[in-house]
Amino acid sequence: MIDIAGNWQRILERVANAAQRAGRDPASVCVVAVAKTKPAAMVEAALAAGVHHIGENYVQEAAAKIAAVSAPATWHFIGHLQRNKARKAVELFQVVHTVDSLGLAQALDRHANELQRRLRVLIEVNVGGEANKSGVAPEAVEPLLTAVGSCGALQIDGLMAIPPVAVEQEMRSYFRMLRQLRDRLRTTAPENARLDELSMGMTDDFEIAIEEGATMVRIGRAIFGPR
Ligand SMILES: *Cc1c(COP(=O)(O)O)cnc(C)c1O
Repeated sequence: MIDIAGNWQRILERVANAAQRAGRDPASVCVVAVAKTKPAAMVEAALAAGVHHIGENYVQEAAAKIAAVSAPATWHFIGHLQRNKARKAVELFQVVHTVDSLGLAQALDRHANELQRRLRVLIEVNVGGEANKSGVAPEAVEPLLTAVGSCGALQIDGLMAIPPVAVEQEMRSYFRMLRQLRDRLRTTAPENARLDELSMGMTDDFEIAIEEGATMVRIGRAIFGPR
């Protein structure tokens, strides 16, 4: 049996320690518990232990789980989102971390308008310049942000990245790159882009990410066990 409540307490301690090392308020870090491949019962256990934010990668899988979970939660979509799933995503999720094209942003905006919802989104940045990964090239974020300024149903909360796995110093430099990009873009961002959030850091590197300014860490295995 996985001790989800115990894992959650240990995560909170590690988040608090990392925040303190960086002179930050631990409350400025939102932990998104990533539940992909894990059953609804484990999500229920996490919510009972004090988790508020659940991350999911697949729309179909999440739809079944969200229907099965009765406790309140904020649901975050963190996987690659296809445009033909945009409507379902708007129906199911409060936050989408992985906007990586104007077409996807416009699809989300249209469905959010139809459903009379406002949707929180982040722009996914391909900080490692990896050909096989989704995300916008760092230099393409500014024009995308400007264009998404016309998507009135979207609130652009910040930037998200999944850096390539590397040694600590290199991971740190990717996290720092995302933060510096955000800081730079803040001055020219459109009105619907607050850019307060940096979604970066997972089980193996979330403490480094927090030291570099992460406000959202996406943690799966350290809470729910190996997949
Ligand atoms: C699976 C996943 C996570 C969580 O990864 P862990 O290593 O289990 O913490 C975080 N972010 C994204 C985008 C993921 O796909």
